[in-house]
Amino acid sequence: MGIQWIDLILFLILFLLFVSVIAVNRITTTHKVYLAFHFIMMLWPLGQFAVKLTDFPSVQLFFVNLSFVAMGMLGPGWLIFVLFLTGRSAPLKSGRILLYIAPAALCILAAMWNPQHLFLAPEAEGYTLRQYGPLFWLLTLIQYAYFFVALLNMFHALKTVTSINQRKQLATALIGMFVLTGLGLLDIFINVLLAEWLPVVPGLLALGILLSDLCFVIAIHRFGMFDILSMAQRDIFEHMATGVIVVDEDGKVLEVNRVAAPLVQVTKGDMFEMERFLAPLHVQGEVYEFLYRYNYHPHEKLQMEFSLQDSSGRHVSIQISPVLDSRKTLLGKIITFHDVSELRKLVVEMNRKNEALHERNLELIAIQDELFRANQKLEQMAVTDGLTGCFNRRYLMQQLEHEVLLNMRYQIPFSIFLFDIDHFKQINDKFGHLVGDEVLRSTAETVRSLLRRTDILARYGGEEFTVYLPHTNREQAELLAEKIMLAVGENEVQSGPDKVSVTISMGVLSESSENLQFNDPKEYLREVFASADSALYKAKDEGRNRVVMAR
Ligand code: GH3
Ligand code: MG
Ligand code: MG
Repeated sequence: MGIQWIDLILFLILFLLFVSVIAVNRITTTHKVYLAFHFIMMLWPLGQFAVKLTDFPSVQLFFVNLSFVAMGMLGPGWLIFVLFLTGRSAPLKSGRILLYIAPAALCILAAMWNPQHLFLAPEAEGYTLRQYGPLFWLLTLIQYAYFFVALLNMFHALKTVTSINQRKQLATALIGMFVLTGLGLLDIFINVLLAEWLPVVPGLLALGILLSDLCFVIAIHRFGMFDILSMAQRDIFEHMATGVIVVDEDGKVLEVNRVAAPLVQVTKGDMFEMERFLAPLHVQGEVYEFLYRYNYHPHEKLQMEFSLQDSSGRHVSIQISPVLDSRKTLLGKIITFHDVSELRKLVVEMNRKNEALHERNLELIAIQDELFRANQKLEQMAVTDGLTGCFNRRYLMQQLEHEVLLNMRYQIPFSIFLFDIDHFKQINDKFGHLVGDEVLRSTAETVRSLLRRTDILARYGGEEFTVYLPHTNREQAELLAEKIMLAVGENEVQSGPDKVSVTISMGVLSESSENLQFNDPKEYLREVFASADSALYKAKDEGRNRVVMAR
């Protein structure tokens, strides 16, 4: 095998490395920079090899130029790559990258232009052997200047980096740079400077390129130069509690994590069909609407809940997020599954507790109602007489104490009736107490039916009643008293075959507004009732069933 094949072999090895790096690693920005750089590096051995394949000087010149384009880009390539490696790539954005490339680009242009063979001159009618001019040296110098700046960056980064892993990465890359620099220098010495005295040794720079590239590949694999972040992401993706699958725009599964795998029963490369997945599940909400949107509005975010049909009965929330590129073209979808059983349980529990609370509340309201009614009854009982339903004497006196003060203050006339059933003892004796009670009740009812709502009928004693009539003068009182007396006399209570009726005797007292004057309402009321009582006594005395006006 001829010695000229070395450059081709080195080119092929570089190409294999290039392919393997793409195949094995995920592509990040740093990778892209590396790959671009690597590609440029490959052009050197390719050009060096190809120049020897042809006898046409113009084709030879093309390959020589290709080599030097590669060599010219080596310096800025290194620098940019080192900047990425050391985490200082920020200044490269916003067009500054052109500044970094400009000197090298000028050199390359000059080399290709090769004015008056100032870059290189052919020897023996061809370019397999060449003589180098000042532009070549300028290009070489600029390349070394790039290397120098890259080295400075590298050393500086080595000083500041604390992670051992990163240190090892940088150190390995640094070795690569030294090897390349060293072999590059050796190439210049042997094949350019001392070319007249020493035999040509091909492939020195290409070997340097290969070795330095190997250093990079070692760094990538041994120290995970590019992979720590993606490994972390992978780890998070695999172990997160949320199930995730990523599908492309056709529904082909690109990724499925540990939690999602048993749920969706698909693996990478399978097709994920939402209809088929949802079919056996118990789904809440509008499943048709969901499927319609999933299929026909792929740019929308979607969410739905379903429960699993297994024994666990878990509730899962499914969420669809489209993956769009910068032009809003759909690249795929991220489908997440989130276990919301606990949340559901809590909601159900809350609802149950709420319901219980509501029931308890209703019970309390009912009890309160009952209490209120009982209280009302008690109040009623405290102020009324159980047999007749009239107010009792205590209540009447209480009210009157207040009323008479008002009447005095505003000079309001009022009247008082005091009446007693005649010969009531005989009713009891003849018909029994029960009939006596009924007579009492019926008499009170008869009287009440003739009174105004503002009048107060009270049971004064056994078969003795009293009526307070506000705003009632003597004439009105007398008329009403007669009317009541007649009505009671006509009233009958049925007792077996007998009709029982009674009469009443009544004393009436009327107080006109003018001469109402007192200090102590209790004392005043005693006097009032004393005179009403004596009028009643007089009515009894005069033969009963009559009304007697007091004073
Ligand atoms: P007079 O015309 O003089 O008033 O005769 P009288 O029989 O009505 O008089 P007296 O005061 O002697 O009798 C009243 C009777 O009323 C005595 C008592 O047994 C009866 N009495 C009092 N309270 C009740 C009651 O609540 N029910 C019944 N059935 N009888 C009562
Ligand atoms: Mg009586
Ligand atoms: Mg009596």
